[in-house]
Amino acid sequence: MKNDVIKNITNKTLGILGGGQLGKMIAIEASRLGIKTCIFDPNKNAPAFQNANIIINSDYTNKKALGQFVKCSDKITYEFENIPLESLNFLEKNSQIFPGIKALKYSQDRLLEKEFISNLGISVAPFYQIKNYVDVKGALEKLKGTAILKTRKFGYDGKGQHTIKKYSIPNIKNNIEKNKYIIEGIIKFKKEISVIVIIKKDGSVICYEPSENKHINGILRETVFPAKISIKTKNKAKAIAVKLARSLNIIGIIAIEMFVDKSNEIIVNEVAPRPHNSGHWTMDACNVSQFEALVRVIFDMPIPNIEYYHNCKMINILGENYNVLEKSLYKKNHKVYIYGKDEIKEDRKLGHINILS
Ligand code: AMP
Repeated sequence: MKNDVIKNITNKTLGILGGGQLGKMIAIEASRLGIKTCIFDPNKNAPAFQNANIIINSDYTNKKALGQFVKCSDKITYEFENIPLESLNFLEKNSQIFPGIKALKYSQDRLLEKEFISNLGISVAPFYQIKNYVDVKGALEKLKGTAILKTRKFGYDGKGQHTIKKYSIPNIKNNIEKNKYIIEGIIKFKKEISVIVIIKKDGSVICYEPSENKHINGILRETVFPAKISIKTKNKAKAIAVKLARSLNIIGIIAIEMFVDKSNEIIVNEVAPRPHNSGHWTMDACNVSQFEALVRVIFDMPIPNIEYYHNCKMINILGENYNVLEKSLYKKNHKVYIYGKDEIKEDRKLGHINILS
């Protein structure tokens, strides 16, 4: 039995679509387990290239490059959502993609995502499809003048979002026709939390305990583990996360972001079928990180029960607080991660610090 596990990882290569920090951290864990990586990214300075055995620097739609990627990779995963589905369908003909394509289809489009989740009987913010400018006005009437207008696709870290107050619609009339939008009611949440779920090939589930998140302008700034919510609310959040993960046919990993309102009801905000920024605490606070768990599922390795060793506050380092890194390097309970990006820019995620207690 033990030898079978080792056979599964000997001389194996994991293909990773996307060479950002998440791809880099997957690659580091793969390497620790003796697995090589082939990383595909259109940016020649992609940080994960620093840790790749094979680099494919090409556009995601380049069939020749995708063919080369399949040849190099025994299994494939992706580290971000906005990879064209057509490219994934092409890859899937010749390889296995983890955690699967179904979840990606929904996570790429906020409208499909919200419809899918609410059809499962799980609460989401009230939402309306926006096809034209008149729809914005109609939806705002229903939402009493306050809402968030979001692009259906390609929005991340708060990009493509406009908060509307007192019916004051931003000057984006022409954009509405071009970009497809949805409008959401604003949830008066008490807390934001997230739950990371791992599903193995045999269908068994590992669910990390929830963490608590603080966003500013749509960008995650801090995650605190464990979330300061009751055990009852934690169990409710985990049950919802597992139901969603199973419904999306996940084999591998998915992160579910949620709001907890003042009556402790859970409202799902979005899903991310990949390792997630709000799960970086797993790198130091417990025995198996989200990145290692993903690699282990993909290559049929066992995953022991999760043991939690520390509480953790994860702080994201962006261009504007880059200087805090220096101080952290002197602190014995701070684990510092620097992604090695080519440029320090405001609102760009450049690293993180796990503060352990
Ligand atoms: P998103 O890109 O949808 O994950 O949104 C980023 C952040 O914006 C969330 O983590 C929340 O802090 C905030 N946000 C998004 N949608 C809503 C909503 N419907 N109600 C309240 N806050 C929201």
